[in-house]
Amino acid sequence: MKENYYNPKTHIGSQPVRVLKWNVAHRLEYVHPEFPREFQAILQRHSLQPCIAYDCSERPILDSGSRDQLVPFVDEKKQVTIQETFLSMVWTVCYSHLVLFEEQNQKPLVNRICGPIHQVDHLAIQRAADVYKYGVSLVCNYTPWDKNSLPNPEEYDPEDFYIGKANGVFILAMVFILCHELAHIDLGHLDTYIPQADRLLAECEADQRAVQTMGSSGSRVGGFCFGKWFRGPIGRRNIIFGRRANRLRLSDA
Ligand SMILES: [Zn+2]
Repeated sequence: MKENYYNPKTHIGSQPVRVLKWNVAHRLEYVHPEFPREFQAILQRHSLQPCIAYDCSERPILDSGSRDQLVPFVDEKKQVTIQETFLSMVWTVCYSHLVLFEEQNQKPLVNRICGPIHQVDHLAIQRAADVYKYGVSLVCNYTPWDKNSLPNPEEYDPEDFYIGKANGVFILAMVFILCHELAHIDLGHLDTYIPQADRLLAECEADQRAVQTMGSSGSRVGGFCFGKWFRGPIGRRNIIFGRRANRLRLSDA
């Protein structure tokens, strides 16, 4: 039976990925034991806005009505912004690739080696294909996520273990993206003009730093708390990072 994980008091936004933002915040906070100190140092070195804006406007990622591209970005005020439609697309890609790899590659491979021990779930393959199609459609055309027919992280049967796994992959993917944006700031990419020819190099540098950050993951440490990550709303945006809070209420996610 389906359960609903939406909490209207804490889950700002309108798309099902809204239920995971606290999890993203928590995972970023503990990306590795030294990260809280590193993050504070980055804040101070670059006079960084101590927050990440969460744009929950219902728009496609490539919005023809404006010049915005709703991918994560850092603006001239050194404010990192992520957008809910982009998060939705990332989740659908995580879910669909996880399911399709398991059902179309891994199970048949194991069956060939060990005999027919795994039954391929053709319904899961179809659902994965459907949600992937929806996620890709968000690039150019925003439509609400049909939570009744498509897999999603907000309303699902806890027996559907692919959703829990996809949530884990999604959270790490978003942490990587946020580390990438912080790397741009710390590497000074916003402080100087980067010629077009060198922009790919700058992206590679930010990726490399993010990989280093993620690769430093170790045991969890307590102490510093990035705070009420998802304050808001401020207009159609909400603040992820914010003032220090005593604890993150992860059970809300
Ligand atoms: Zn970048």
